[in-house]
Amino acid sequence: MFERSEELLTRARKSIPGGVNSPVRAFTAVGGTPPFIERAEGAHIYDADGNEYIDFVLSWGPGIVGHAHPKVVEACQKAVARGSSFGAPTELEIELAERIIERCPGTDVVRLVNSGTEACMSAVRVARGATGRDKIIKFEGCYHGHADSFLIAAGSGATTLGVPNSPGVTRGTAHDTLLATFNDIDSVASLVDDNTGEVAAIILEPVCGNTGCLPPRDDFLKKLRKLCDDNGIVLIFDEVMTGFRIAKGGAAERFGVTPDMSTFGKVVGGGFPLAAYAGKEEIMRHVAPDGPVYQAGTLSGNPVAVTAGIETLKLLDDDVYDQLEALGSRLQSGIDELIEQRDLPLCTERVGSMFSLFFTPEIPVDHDDVKACDIDRFNQFFHASLKNGVYLAPSQFEAGFLSTAHTDEIIDQVIDKTADALDEVY
Ligand SMILES: *Cc1c(COP(=O)(O)O)cnc(C)c1O
Repeated sequence: MFERSEELLTRARKSIPGGVNSPVRAFTAVGGTPPFIERAEGAHIYDADGNEYIDFVLSWGPGIVGHAHPKVVEACQKAVARGSSFGAPTELEIELAERIIERCPGTDVVRLVNSGTEACMSAVRVARGATGRDKIIKFEGCYHGHADSFLIAAGSGATTLGVPNSPGVTRGTAHDTLLATFNDIDSVASLVDDNTGEVAAIILEPVCGNTGCLPPRDDFLKKLRKLCDDNGIVLIFDEVMTGFRIAKGGAAERFGVTPDMSTFGKVVGGGFPLAAYAGKEEIMRHVAPDGPVYQAGTLSGNPVAVTAGIETLKLLDDDVYDQLEALGSRLQSGIDELIEQRDLPLCTERVGSMFSLFFTPEIPVDHDDVKACDIDRFNQFFHASLKNGVYLAPSQFEAGFLSTAHTDEIIDQVIDKTADALDEVY
C-alpha cells in the first residue's frame, strides 16, 4: 500500500533529518512509513501511491475550510501574479490586522510573523520588555513552538520523541521557564508566590491541543486572569490552534476571558506560513518601531500568505461555527456510541471542531492523564484507521480537526471505518 512512500522516505532520509521537515511527520510515535502526500482537495488527501484518505490533520489545523478551497486558491493565484514579496507595507496587511482585531477579544494591535513559533517567542519577548521581568510560566504538555524557552516539557512532537528538554537549550534559559500543571490553579499560584515580582508572563493553550484535546476546567482561565491581574503578570493565550477554530474569536470569545496578549497561527494563514501576535495597546506599543522591543522579518506580512488568511477569515462567518459544532457533535456521539456498544475503555473529548479519542476510560484533565493512555492500542488503532482511509494525527498526544468540507456523509463513513478499526484492535 505504501511502496512509493517507502522509496521516497529512503531517499528523503539521506538529505533531510529523518526524511522530514518537522519531526512528528516521521511517524516516530506510531512507527511505520508516513504517506508522502501528492495533493489534497476538500476533506481528502492523496498520497504518492494513489491512496485516498479522509483527512483529520488538515495540515495540523490550518485547513478549516478544507484543502484547496476554490476562493482561497483563486485569490492567491491573483496575488502571486502581482509579485510574491515586496519587503514593504501593503494595504492587505492592514485588512488582515483589522479582521483579527475585530474578531478576537484583547487584540488592539497586531504584528504579523511567519510561524506560530515566532509569534510565541516574540510575544514573550514583548511581555518581558513591557514588565522588565525575566521569568515565564508555562504548562506541562502545552506546546508553543520550538523557541528555546518553550522546549521545557513541551507537548506533541517533543513528548513523543522523549526529549521534553532538548539538548541545545541552555540551563540559563530553562531557569527562566517555570512549569505548572494544566487545570491546576494551585500549581500556578505557588509558582507566582515563590517568584514574587519576577514573573513576566503566563502562557498557555487555552484549550490544550498539543497533548490531545484538553479543555480548561473549573474556571481555570478566569482564575488565571485574576492571578495575573493581582500580580501584574501578562496573560498570553496561545491561540495558534484554537484561534478562529473553536469560535469566531477563538478561546477568548468561547470562554469569555480576555488575555493581555494572544498568538495566532495555523488558520490565520489559510495554509501559508503566516502567524501573528497581538495584544492590548499599552503592551503592543513596546514593539519596534513604536517602542524598544525588537522584532522583525523579511517575509513578514507576505502578500500571498496574507491574501490566503484574509480569504479564509472571510469564509468563517457565524454559520460556519454552528456547522462545525454540529459536525463535531455528530462525530463525537457516533464514536461514543461505538465505545458504549463494545464496552471499551476509551473516551472522547471535543471543543468545537477539535477532538480526541483517548485510549483511557476516564477523561484526561492534564498531561499526566494523557501519558497514562494505552499508547500501544492507540498506535494499532492509528494504523488500522490509516489502512481504512482515515488519516489521523500520528500520536495520542495530538488533537484531530474538522473542516467545513467534512460533510455529514463523510462523518458517517468515518464512524463506520472507526468501528472496523476498533474491532481490529480489540
Ligand atoms: C502549532 C503550534 C505552535 C507552533 O506553530 P508553528 O507554526 O508550527 O511554529 C505554537 N502553539 C500552538 C498552540 C500550536 O498548536
